[in-house]
Amino acid sequence: MRTPLVMGNWKMYGLLAEARALASGVRDGLKRVRDVEVALCPPYTALAVVSEILGGGPIRLGAQNCHWDASGAHTGEISAPMLADVGCRYVLLGHSERRREMGETDEQVNRKVRAALAHRLTPVLCVGETAEERRQGLTFTTVEGQLRAGLAGVPAEGIASMVLAYEPVWAIGTGVNATPGQAAEVHGYLRGLVSELTSKEIALTLRILYGGSVKPDNADALCAEPEIDGALVGAASLTVAGFIGIVKKAARAGAVTKGD
Ligand code: PEP
Repeated sequence: MRTPLVMGNWKMYGLLAEARALASGVRDGLKRVRDVEVALCPPYTALAVVSEILGGGPIRLGAQNCHWDASGAHTGEISAPMLADVGCRYVLLGHSERRREMGETDEQVNRKVRAALAHRLTPVLCVGETAEERRQGLTFTTVEGQLRAGLAGVPAEGIASMVLAYEPVWAIGTGVNATPGQAAEVHGYLRGLVSELTSKEIALTLRILYGGSVKPDNADALCAEPEIDGALVGAASLTVAGFIGIVKKAARAGAVTKGD
């Protein structure tokens, strides 16, 4: 049984006043929600403020990236221990925007995954194909390559503590989400690979989130799909109502899975 996880990726949005309002609104609006886990990933500049607002409550803090070294002469970078120090539980790694805009390679993503695990952060490894790769029938080849490279050298118990996110590049920020069937097909494939790399037991407990234009009005159908263990949400996580709407739908799916 996998408890759904819904993560808000605020990307490069949110001055401090906006971050405070959004984090407090989400915290207050989700006080009574059950059967789902929630995390907010604000920009670095808002991590401390959001950490304070979330306090020791059930909503977790996540970051959007980290460096692979624990410290060093890397101007402009932030390390895994710094994120842990400010209260982060999760870190997104290998997001397609970073792969595309910053030229982040699979090898770098792998180093970051290993650094995050070494500092007790939960890496959320993002994989996904472009529209062109899907058109050419390369979806499985692409996500398999990203997954195998991202997890290279990571022991089974490390993989067991991670989260995967399938985020087709063509669905991110476009308003066009993958259908539950399209996502389930890829999630099932990824789960099979994790089973091969670790064990069937680990693969069955590992959460695989779907990301790409998740909104309150498509979250029901996506979260009802047994292979989808929650959502990584960009644009719709920038309003309290939008994000809470998605979390509540994921919670409903979580309650059904639990048999509530
Ligand atoms: C994302 O960037 O992780 C994402 C899923 O964005 P959006 O929900 O805006 O498509």
